[in-house]
Amino acid sequence: ADLLGFSHSNHFRSETHSSFFLAVREKKKTRSELGSDRGKFEARKMALAFDEFGRPFIILREQDQKTRLRGIDAQKANIAAGKAVARILRSSLGPKGMDKMLQGPDGDVTITNDGATILEQMDVDNQIAKLMVELSRSQDYEIGDGTTGVVVMAGALLEQAERQLDRGIHPIRVAEGYEMASRVAVEHLERISQKFEFDVNNFEPLVQTCMTTLSSKIVNRCKRSLAEIAVKAVLAVADLERRDVNLDLIKIEGKVGGNLEDTELIYGILVDKDMSHPQMPKQIEDAHIAILTCPFEPPKPKTKHKVDIDTVEKFETLRKQEQQYFDEMVQKCKDVGATLVICQWGFDDEANHLLMHRNLPAVRWVGGVELELIAIATGGRIVPRFQELTPEKLGKAGMVREKSFGTTKERMLYIEHCANSKAVTIFIRGGNKMMIDETKRSIHDALCVARNLIRNKSIVYGGGAAEIACSLAVDAAADKYPGVEQYAIRAFAEALDSVPMALAENSGLQPIETLSAVKSQQLKENIPFYGIDCNDVGTNDMREQNVFETLIGKQQQILLATQVVKMILKIDDVISNSEY
Ligand code: ADP
Ligand code: MG
Repeated sequence: ADLLGFSHSNHFRSETHSSFFLAVREKKKTRSELGSDRGKFEARKMALAFDEFGRPFIILREQDQKTRLRGIDAQKANIAAGKAVARILRSSLGPKGMDKMLQGPDGDVTITNDGATILEQMDVDNQIAKLMVELSRSQDYEIGDGTTGVVVMAGALLEQAERQLDRGIHPIRVAEGYEMASRVAVEHLERISQKFEFDVNNFEPLVQTCMTTLSSKIVNRCKRSLAEIAVKAVLAVADLERRDVNLDLIKIEGKVGGNLEDTELIYGILVDKDMSHPQMPKQIEDAHIAILTCPFEPPKPKTKHKVDIDTVEKFETLRKQEQQYFDEMVQKCKDVGATLVICQWGFDDEANHLLMHRNLPAVRWVGGVELELIAIATGGRIVPRFQELTPEKLGKAGMVREKSFGTTKERMLYIEHCANSKAVTIFIRGGNKMMIDETKRSIHDALCVARNLIRNKSIVYGGGAAEIACSLAVDAAADKYPGVEQYAIRAFAEALDSVPMALAENSGLQPIETLSAVKSQQLKENIPFYGIDCNDVGTNDMREQNVFETLIGKQQQILLATQVVKMILKIDDVISNSEY
């Protein structure tokens, strides 16, 4: 027993050591990074000076290493960079969009369809291209879905802007026209949006919207069940009165193995641990949990103590005492009413056996973070000294159960219906790590969509229907502007068409023919619900296909894309290191 105890404490010590070294190494790295950052900053400086006649001129530090682009050349170069990024994402848009495979610097592979993730993983070093990456990230941050669409839209706006510049229209005029057009489009979206009614008992409409989001992902095979999981998770943590959802309460966990179909929603938390003894009960109802960070075993003699055992009797007494001590600990747990003990540290086999014998299930070696999570969720208190264990400090959960997976010995502990928290866990299964990671991202999108609908119940129809409707509205509005902006507004309308066009192209349809057919249908019947029939269902009425997106998501896409394009158009001087 002593040996085991000693090895535990040793193990603990070596762990702290390694983490200490890690911290030191990291600190060093950041310091050197800081240095190089400062160097870059110095080199970037530009100065304005005047000659003897008072004429100004610009001094570039280390000019031989710099390139400078000005005026229309700067805008052209920037537009080209933005367009290049958009072109990469264009083929990923929509239910038939392609996925991208990206390899990280250390050989890790990501396969994804999510625009924000694709751009995040790409090593982009052009500054304008980085703006596009930021654009996708902001959409991800605010809305969660529509990260590909926003970049495609911005790319189309840039392309159209280039044509206007070629016509000799000043970039500022283009930017202003875009601003006006975007306002028209956003208002029109509001007009064609529909209220979407649902409540906790009838959440089918929410599921439908999440399914639209998931239909463009790799996981679309299981979109129905995943959408249901996402909606149930959001409803479980939602505060419907305040119309708020705290997505932090939804944890997404994954484990390689099983099928995507085995993905489940757990009303509680999941801990990657098992009961310390195989014969302990696998299921505890109405569990009262003691959460211990103190050792749950008899005190161990440390190396600096000296215990003289020279007779058999002395050894027996010591053994008895140790046993009795632990027996008292177990009794104390039982006295305060604990039906499960969760410990940060381990206990030896003898103790384990005794726990099983005394019918007190236990879980050992639970990490500090998980322990805190359990404590918060179950409303318990972490007990750092055994003497302090009292009934009030026990956490409560409706059900704690252990589940094993496949033929392996892998088991996990489900702590469900916790007393204090609404937290839920989505537990993803899948064939490999890449699949699980992509499922996590897809579910995140679906969660965001459901949350957005709870915040704001308005929807617009997808499949490019909303974009086509806006395009028509913007085109019509262009006539009211007498100035040069008119051209930019028309260009904006044309850019809106690029989203349905990309959807059609990616689905193997003739882009221009399909778009013009749908557009004339919308015009003729004055119904903004016709979009691209990507999945060849046989109708392009998106109401029938149940393809919607949230209004705020679509509005945000248009606003963000316009903002970035305006910003790019207003840059007329680019000074960069010439190696790029
Ligand atoms: P994003 O990252 O922008 O969400 P997606 O690859 O998810 O990109 O594609 C979203 C686009 O696909 C939206 O315009 C949406 O309306 C459209 N879409 C999704 N499902 C369908 C469908 N079943 N039929 C037609 N269009 C669809
Ligand atoms: Mg999407």
